Amino acid sequence: MTDSQTPRVRFAPSPTGTLHTGSVRTALFNYLFAKQNNGKFILRIDDTDKIRSTKEYERDILNGIKWLGLSYDELYYQSQRSELYKKYLNQLLAENKIYVSKEEIKKGGDREEVIRFRNPNKKVRFTDLIKGEIEFDTTELGNFIVTKDMETPLYHFASVVDDFDLGITHIIRGEDHISNTPRQVLMWEALGANWPQFAHLPLILAPDRTKLSKRKHVALASLNRFIKGGYLPEALINFVALLGWSPQAEHELANPNQEILSLTDLIKLFKLKKVQKSGAIFNIEKLNWINREYLRRLSPEEFLAKAEPFLPELKTLPALIPVLLERSYTFGDLKKMSEAGKLKYFFTAPTYDKELLKNQIHLTKIIALLDKVSEDKFTAENIKTAIWNFATERGRGEVLWPMRIALSGQKQSPDPFTIAAIIGKIETLKRLRHAASL
Ligand code: GLU
Repeated sequence: MTDSQTPRVRFAPSPTGTLHTGSVRTALFNYLFAKQNNGKFILRIDDTDKIRSTKEYERDILNGIKWLGLSYDELYYQSQRSELYKKYLNQLLAENKIYVSKEEIKKGGDREEVIRFRNPNKKVRFTDLIKGEIEFDTTELGNFIVTKDMETPLYHFASVVDDFDLGITHIIRGEDHISNTPRQVLMWEALGANWPQFAHLPLILAPDRTKLSKRKHVALASLNRFIKGGYLPEALINFVALLGWSPQAEHELANPNQEILSLTDLIKLFKLKKVQKSGAIFNIEKLNWINREYLRRLSPEEFLAKAEPFLPELKTLPALIPVLLERSYTFGDLKKMSEAGKLKYFFTAPTYDKELLKNQIHLTKIIALLDKVSEDKFTAENIKTAIWNFATERGRGEVLWPMRIALSGQKQSPDPFTIAAIIGKIETLKRLRHAASL
């Protein structure tokens, strides 16, 4: 790439499965690289495999990219570009760089026509921006098959023709494609073009240090799991960016250990050449921690709006947000807590057996003490202060237990001062009076 050349990069998923977490990182790194160099980020749907590609997977991928907010500048579908592939197949046939061969593809089957690449059998050398110098003897690849028909070339040919035609300057993709590169380099040469720069990203590994797989690591390997699980896209982007890359101390971070990085920060700080060579381990605790950091940074209005699909009733009780944040990492956690009935008492008065109250007798005094705290000062701190002396005198457990049951009906819950403050003075006194009357 010359300095005057604007980078053009592409993310080229095949819609033969849902959007993989590793692909999310590939897309992100392509995006960051394009944005920081005023380049173009291109989305190309590699849907030449008609049998394995589905509209459903395509939707999952497009939806995932949109959810992440990685807006692309151009969108292409390989299935709509067969004319282009045909043009180049004809050109290379005319130049005798590929040739038609009639052969028995399946043992015992009919002889079929395939088009093979005339391999110059030589050493191919390229410099990978992450992996460094790579040399490969292409002899072992033989005269590999390029296509079985003129309409739908196989991956390598379609990919190279597209990258060439779209003016791709940098191919940033997963390390699993490194073994494809020698074949592709040969094809770039056959097209008479300079191949672009390559950057192969290290694999993402599951906690068991094996390759992150959709079959084995169901909860971690597909982006849609995190969307459904109530994660914030900003958090996922931040987390994924740190898989195999980290900002360097020399960058102007106020705190060199800063791990919360927005997309804007990442565009500024990301360095393709600093991506590590070895695999990066997916640590869900770290993702959860990052997600909570982002949740904490939301205004109550934003929090309620984003939590709405998971916990719609929360909008009637925004005071509950800080308590929830102590006990959850994602909106999905809120939903689970709510489904397990752990939040119900915040929204409706609990039911419980009278016997559970034990020292019902203390409730009258608690009511009298709390009645003196004005409604606008009804904070956990003030409620505690109002009751504390009495509770200390009579035994804290003895006094606070019936209060907790009256308010929550639960043996385990946040402390009764916190619950009282959240549900407010009127509801607190109502519940306490009801308990006293049982
Ligand atoms: N469609 C290919 C894939 O999803 C693209 C590989 C590439 O980036 O060249 O694996």
